[in-house]
Amino acid sequence: MTMQAKATNPNVDPAEIEKFNSMATRWWDPDGDFRPLHQINPLRLEFIDLYGLGLAGRKVVDVGCGGGLLTEAMAKAGAQVTGIDMSPDALGVARLHALDSELTIDYQQTTAEDFAMAHAGQFDVVTCMEMLEHVPDPAAVVRACATLVKPGGRLVFSTLNRTLKAKLLGVFVAEYVLRWVPKGTHDAEKFIRPSELIRFAEDAGLKEIAATGIHYNPLLSQFFLSDRNLDVNYIVACERPAAEQPSA
Ligand code: SAH
Repeated sequence: MTMQAKATNPNVDPAEIEKFNSMATRWWDPDGDFRPLHQINPLRLEFIDLYGLGLAGRKVVDVGCGGGLLTEAMAKAGAQVTGIDMSPDALGVARLHALDSELTIDYQQTTAEDFAMAHAGQFDVVTCMEMLEHVPDPAAVVRACATLVKPGGRLVFSTLNRTLKAKLLGVFVAEYVLRWVPKGTHDAEKFIRPSELIRFAEDAGLKEIAATGIHYNPLLSQFFLSDRNLDVNYIVACERPAAEQPSA
């Protein structure tokens, strides 16, 4: 049962799950607590579609899916999607919203680690967006994601960089000045440098294939992707290399 997974997996921070439970009703309000995720959703979908080798017809698992913003977007793009998360309330909202949207999505309350034990090598694409900075051991989640993907499959991770700029923009400005997201949404100490994320990926047998920053243009009030820097929010695409051909 799912509660047991929560109790037995040390890589779940109960305070984080409680926070996401308490915010759950606001997932689908484009001007609410998850407004930045609504705004970046089309950008990250495009990136995932590009580096996920085209989502249509792919089997995808969205790790830490929350209320299903990206999960639904990928299902609409034609993928067969499973969404996993440890917040029962976020999953409740995600399930109801999928019904409204008339989409078939398999939502399950489990961790990446537990799910990977039963579903190793089953997915063409694994996405894990804005989740790694909320877990005690992000490297273990990356390893589980690497287990879930098929050889030759793709993975896309996003998180916040551990820089002063990210602390200023991602925490101070977003939580205290513009009040886009509730205070306490992020702990800047848990942000992850791109070099660390890429090391977690390589240690899990993955190969980085692309990385881009998610930037905000305050004049246009718009987010955009650019690889000119990864200083704040960024996305990394990886590949699980296909099994090596035996040499002739
Ligand atoms: N990926 C979604 C939601 C990001 S919010 C998006 O980008 O739109 C982070 C999510 O991670 C929350 O829904 C939270 O409940 C979930 N989460 C945090 N720790 C988790 C864990 N150990 N296992 C699974 N999900 C977790």
